[in-house]
Amino acid sequence: MTDETPEMFQARYEDISAIRWPRPADPQEELDTLNARHLAWNAWYKKTVKAAREHGPQHDALLVALEDLVEIKRDADEKIRLLLAYGRIFHQPRPHTLESLGAAAGLSPSGVSRAFGAEEVMAVAELTGKRPPAVDVQRHDPNVISGQSSKSRCTWGGSRAEPCTETPKYAVTDKSGAKWACCDKHLPGYLRSRV
Ligand SMILES: [Zn+2]
Repeated sequence: MTDETPEMFQARYEDISAIRWPRPADPQEELDTLNARHLAWNAWYKKTVKAAREHGPQHDALLVALEDLVEIKRDADEKIRLLLAYGRIFHQPRPHTLESLGAAAGLSPSGVSRAFGAEEVMAVAELTGKRPPAVDVQRHDPNVISGQSSKSRCTWGGSRAEPCTETPKYAVTDKSGAKWACCDKHLPGYLRSRV
């Protein structure tokens, strides 16, 4: 943008800030959120500088703000899918109903069922270290297993930080229908969770 003046450049930052982080009308709230708004503004400014360095000055603050918000939306959608999987499959002492989850998430009951699958169930297990209730054991077969990592290692045992290194011998099925890999050492734990 060869005809851009420094004033235009400055004004664009102010306009986008006013849209993304409007100043709260309540003076106390404005004070309380000042730090958070300042941090968010700073992160966006740094991303803008980085984008201009990588893609040239035509990749401006407005495009960075749009990319930022799309990323936030994608991240929120992903977390909603994971929380729905958690509520349906892992929640103790009993799962939430499709109706209560749907009402909270703005989805129909069938929309809740469609919102997650084996990938989400396994991601929740990885993040929380929990395993869903079990239903069925078969011999391990990489072709019937649900997640990529279950093809080569025991995913029923271990944790994110310390994956199980034993040879996977069984394909175990959880209540959601996802098939996990399981070793001899972790099979007793799986069987215990069936009863
Ligand atoms: Zn194991």
